[in-house]
Amino acid sequence: MKCPKCNAEARDVARFCQRCHATLRYECPACRHEQRQGGKCERCGVDFLKYISSVVAIQQGEADLAHDRIEQRSSLLKNILLLPFNLGIPLFRQLMGASRSRRDR
Ligand SMILES: [Zn+2]
Ligand SMILES: [Zn+2]
Repeated sequence: MKCPKCNAEARDVARFCQRCHATLRYECPACRHEQRQGGKCERCGVDFLKYISSVVAIQQGEADLAHDRIEQRSSLLKNILLLPFNLGIPLFRQLMGASRSRRDR
């Protein structure tokens, strides 16, 4: 077969043209059917771009959910870690005030 883009001789099994790297074979992301043309799958009718973008959207949604979960956990952890400090500050202020008032006297 010949490359439709640069007319270079390409092997039938090649997925890309060795000279111009044009795509010679498209694989359906849904059913793995291979065909010469991109766009729509000749076997299951899936639109390649739509399918890929929907898969990417789902993966991004899952990543966002995981991110939210991590954020929630880290803010909870932060509160727990800050708890002794928050409780310690009034105590610290009391001690400072006590020492200052002692000096004033
Ligand atoms: Zn080519
Ligand atoms: Zn397909």
